[in-house]
Parts: sequence; structure tokens; C-alpha cells
Amino acid sequence: MLPNKNSWAEPYKIKMVELLKMTTAEQRKKALEDAGYNTFLLKSEDVYIDLLTDSGTSAMSDEQWSGMMLGDEAYAGSKNYYNLEKTVQDIYGYKYLVPTHQGRGAENILSQVMIKPGDIVPGNMYFTTTRLHQELAGGDFHDVIVDEAHDSASAYPFKGNIDLNKVEKLVQEYGAARIPYICVAVTVNLAGGQPVSMANLKELRAYTQEKGIKIMLDMTRIAENAYFIQQKEEGYRLKTIAEIVNEICSYTDGGTFSGKKDALVNIGGFLALNDWDVFEEARNMVVVYEGLHTYGGLAGRDMEAMAIGIRESVQDAHMKARIGQVLYLGEQMEAFGIPIVKPIGGHGIFVDAKQFLPHIPQDDFPAQTLAAEIYLDAGIRTMERGIVSAGRKANGENYYPNLELVRFTIPRRVYTQAHMDVIAESTARVYERRKEIKGLKMVYEPKYLRFFQARFQPL
Ligand SMILES: *Cc1c(COP(=O)(O)O)cnc(C)c1O
Repeated sequence: MLPNKNSWAEPYKIKMVELLKMTTAEQRKKALEDAGYNTFLLKSEDVYIDLLTDSGTSAMSDEQWSGMMLGDEAYAGSKNYYNLEKTVQDIYGYKYLVPTHQGRGAENILSQVMIKPGDIVPGNMYFTTTRLHQELAGGDFHDVIVDEAHDSASAYPFKGNIDLNKVEKLVQEYGAARIPYICVAVTVNLAGGQPVSMANLKELRAYTQEKGIKIMLDMTRIAENAYFIQQKEEGYRLKTIAEIVNEICSYTDGGTFSGKKDALVNIGGFLALNDWDVFEEARNMVVVYEGLHTYGGLAGRDMEAMAIGIRESVQDAHMKARIGQVLYLGEQMEAFGIPIVKPIGGHGIFVDAKQFLPHIPQDDFPAQTLAAEIYLDAGIRTMERGIVSAGRKANGENYYPNLELVRFTIPRRVYTQAHMDVIAESTARVYERRKEIKGLKMVYEPKYLRFFQARFQPL
């Protein structure tokens, strides 16, 4: 009998492996105490399966590694810069490239160049570093994502979409002149890797053109967003990821990019622009913060690996396996009854800590607590995306985000399906004993991006 399944498999084979250290429950308890119950402060050696982030944790291909040997480490005019520039022009269609050491370097420059004190910057849900750079430049971030994004139970397929009514309201209240650009993230990291539809982008483009407002992408996971458009949006089923990526960019004026996600490298990023004036200023500024405009804080070899990785990231077979693995993990978790954000997004599974631990109030950090418990069970490292990550407002009050999530981020091309089974089973064991779990209190709080270094103690 034929199986009634059409399984995908990885479009690569394994050439080299990295051995992992196995730990005992006793060792994990000690490691977690030493880390102040913050998974960011664990030593990576003490982690079995590391799902802290998909950022810079991907496995490079043999082609990328070969590219590392072709580094032209000239201070100026490296050939790897010109290769990266051509790749950005070919794949994304933007005219001008400013390389940066990673995504936030590009965010800093874009914010400094385009935002004036008192400006309003609408965006489809905040991202930690993006919003902070906008605020440091004197701007005020406003969330304009559709309401469905804040509802972990909504199955709306494009939860990253922008609510045009929310944008219109800001325009009416502040005037278009105070809005330098709308920041559109594809996909939306903090909503759970949720995509934006092409229809929504087209509508936003028409609206902003009329008002004279630019659109800047946070294009960190644009290829993943393109996969969802291909799979879920009417009219895109027969288009390639590469075609869809190019079309997304065509409705925008530029973007910031972290090469550490889609582009399958361990470090790198860029700012891409269509507007010569903005580019000229950005190119002046990159010299101050990153390095000369033809390396922007990167070695030539890093630019080469990123250029190759960008081309690999838009291969259909790659993306099918990448997101197929994430979906597989999500389906395993659902089968155990674990509450997760749906639909399942592009780069990981987001477990709903409010539903998982309903007896822990948000002030006692349910998602931080859950991430700690998951580490204790089998050495799997996840991270908090809730009240700790959301931080404080300028007036010192805590933000209270609706979503209180634990993120299981899947590095690209690193773990196998068997690892996914182990992750789901470990989380199910924690779910089984959820009622015994108590919250945490914060005993050290850094001033900026507190989730990275905050310390906690059990209540
Ligand atoms: C990672 C990330 C960034 C920042 O990029 P870095 O390379 O980490 O500086 C910005 N936006 C989103 C959505 C990200 O996921």
C-alpha cells in the first residue's frame, strides 16, 4: 500500500558534525541557578538542544565555507563587497547597499538618517532593537499591526498584516510630515514569525504613496515570509520564492537586514536603499559606526558567505524543508495538547505561557519561568518573549504585552527530526507537571534590553 503522506526531506546531506555534551538534572539545576534563571545567561556548553535563537546559529553550506576562503580583505573596494552588492540588487532589487556588522547596525544608521526628534514611526509590532534605535533617534514607535496578531488563538493566516485604519488614524492625529516611514517587518518576529500578505503590502504602498510616506522593510526573514505567501495567498502558488521576495521589495523603499537569519551566516547585515539622498547620508554615517562603506564592520569573507547564503535562502527546496521542520515540531506539540501560537510561524514555535501557566500572574514572569523549567527537564534552551522582553516605557512603567510567550526557535539546517521529537516530549513532561510550577522575581534589571541580562530568583 502506498503511504498516504508526501514527506519532505532536507535538500542536503551532513558532512561534519558537532558533538553535544549531555548533562544530568543535578548539573542543569546548578547551571540555571548560576544563570539567574535567565536562559540568555546559560553557558552554551551546558545546553543540549539550543533553541534560544535562529540568529547566527545556522549551518553554512560547503559553498559558503568555500566562499570564506575567497575573502578579499582589502580595506577598501573588496571584491566581496561588489559581489554582495550585485546579490542584493539581483535578489531584492534594491539599488544601493550599505553593509553593517549585523541588523541593528543598519537600524541605527537608518534611524539616525531618517528619524527626527518628535517623529512617529508606525510598525507591525515592535522588535526590541528596532524600536530602541527609533526611540534613541527621537522617534515614537506606534504599533499598527492587525488585532489578530495579539490574539494567540486567532488562526488568521497573515497575522503580520498592517491595519490601514490604524495608520490612517496616526496620519490624522500627527500629520504625514511627522511620519518618515512605516517599518514593515516580514515576517513579524514577536508575533510568532507571522507573515504579511502581498495584498496588504500593495494596499499599504498605494496609501503611503498618496501621503508621501516611505516604507522600510525589516527584511530579516523575507524569504520565510515569501514561503507563506506562496503557500497561502491566492495567485502565488506557481511563483518561486525568489520571484515573491523580489515582488515584496518592489513595494518598498529599502530595508534593514540581519544576515544572521534568512541568509544562513553567523554574522552580517546591511541596509539597502533605493533613494540616493538617504543612501548618501547612510554611507557617510556607516564610517562612524561600522567601518568603511565597502565593508561596514564585516570581513571580506563574511560578505562572501552572506552573498552565497542569500542566494541559497531563496531556493524553494530549502524553504520547504526549513519551514517543514518548524511545522513538524508544532504539530508534535499540538498532539500533546501544549498551547502554541497559531498559525505556526516561520522560525519557531511560540508556546503560550499564559495558557500553559494560568496560575502565574504576568508580574511573576510566566514565560521566563516556563523557559527555565524547560531547560531543567532536558537541557533545551528557549527564551522568553513576554513582559521581560517588552521592557519599560520612557516613564518607567512596564509594558504589559498581551502575548506572554516562550520561543522555541529553530536554527536552519542544524537539528534533525529526532531532535524535534525530543523537544516536543520534554515540553510535554513539563506540561504534565505545570500546576506545581511557581513564578520568579526579578533581582537584577539592566537599563536597556533587560531580557538579555536580567537575573531572577524563584518565588
Ligand atoms: C534579529 C532581528 C533584528 C536585528 O538583527 P541583529 O542582526 O540581531 O542585529 C531586527 N529585526 C528582526 C525582526 C530580527 O529578528
